[in-house]
This record gives sequence, C-alpha cells and structure tokens, in this order.
Amino acid sequence: MYLKKMEIKGFKSFPDKTEILFPHGLISVVGPNGSGKSNILDAIRWVLGEQSMKSLRGDKLEDVIFSGTEKRKEMNYCEVSMLIDNQDKMIDIDYSEISIKRKAFKSGESQFFLNNKQCRLKDIKELLLDTGIGREGYSIISQGKIDEIVNGNSNQRRKILEEAAGITKFRYKKEESEKKLDVANENLERINDVYKEVE
Ligand code: ATP
Repeated sequence: MYLKKMEIKGFKSFPDKTEILFPHGLISVVGPNGSGKSNILDAIRWVLGEQSMKSLRGDKLEDVIFSGTEKRKEMNYCEVSMLIDNQDKMIDIDYSEISIKRKAFKSGESQFFLNNKQCRLKDIKELLLDTGIGREGYSIISQGKIDEIVNGNSNQRRKILEEAAGITKFRYKKEESEKKLDVANENLERINDVYKEVE
C-alpha cells in the first residue's frame, strides 16, 4: 500500500487543479519559503478527515479554500483527492486502488467520497484504522510531532503503539459496541417503565 497520487483544486495556495504523483521510493518536495510545500501535507491531513483548524494552520473552516490574490478571485469551494495503491490488500477492501476525496464549500458543507461514491467520514475512518494512514495515524510526522511523542504522556505514546500494533480497530469496535449497548439498556429501561405503567 502506498500513496500514488494527489489531486488538489482550490485548496489553500492551489487554485488550479494540481496533480502530484508519488512514484515508489524516496521523494522530497523542494521549493522556496511560502511556496506551498506544507500545504500539500495539510491537504493530505484534510482529505483524511482532519477537523481541527489548528492542525491545518488556520482559524476558520473556510481558511482551507483559496482566498484569492491581487490577480485572482477567491474560490467558493475546494477539493482534494488521494489515490492509494492497495494491490497488497493491506487495506481491507476488495479494490487494488482506493480513492478518497473530500470537497468543501464556503457555506460550511463538507462531503466525503470513497471510490467516487459519497460516504461518511466514519466510513473512511473505519477503513483506515490500523493502517497508520488515518487522521491520527503515524504516517504523517509533522514539525513538532517527534517532540510530542518523546515528551508525551504514556497514554499518548500508547495510542501510537496501538495503531502500529493493529489494536486501534478493536478498541474502536469495542467502544462502538459499548455505545450501542448503552442505548439498548436505556431502551430496555424505558420499556420496563411503560410495562409497569400498564400493569
Ligand atoms: P516554508 O518553507 O516557509 O515552511 P512552505 O513551502 O511550506 O513554506 P506553505 O506554508 O505550504 O509554504 O504555504 C504558505 C503559503 O500558502 C502562504 O503564501 C499563504 O499565503 C498561502 N495560503 C495559505 N492558505 C491560503 C488560502 N486559503 N488561500 C490562498 N493562499 C493561501
């Protein structure tokens, strides 16, 4: 499994449709200060469902949409898609290529797509659990992340180790089941109350 291609349009400093290919091997992105290198990483984080504007180096939701320049009008939407090669089936889905896309509008609406079919962020999150490429995965090591890992408390470090060890998926499923169990118990209590009333 590896990241094959990114397509960015209207995201931060990329108003035009921009295609970035990631062939196998080591790749470095070079460019002058402020040319948009970190914006590519922000785009990866954003398409994977990042909701925290602080992590995306902005304040408001629309800060990820191209805000215009002296010569160019601002845009009212942006979209980012990533293409993942999954020939080794490391991601548990019957496709050898997976495309994940996110679209956002100035109105605040945000849409997610999995292989061009609209889906929920939850679907993407569940698909990427334990692969290391999710929003909370360890595949994006940004500036300061190493410090965070070294200086983090045992809980934070444990989260990273659990993701690498493939335990996150089971913890997530356990928490989801517990939530469903709580709802079922509440319903049962309500039914018992009604039953007592009619008795
Ligand atoms: P450095 O080498 O200094 O870290 P960089 O190449 O990583 O720089 P980025 O931080 O990716 O650069 O890009 C910063 C540029 O992106 C700034 O010029 C900023 O004006 C532009 N930018 C950020 N958000 C938007 C936006 N919403 N619309 C237009 N331009 C934006």
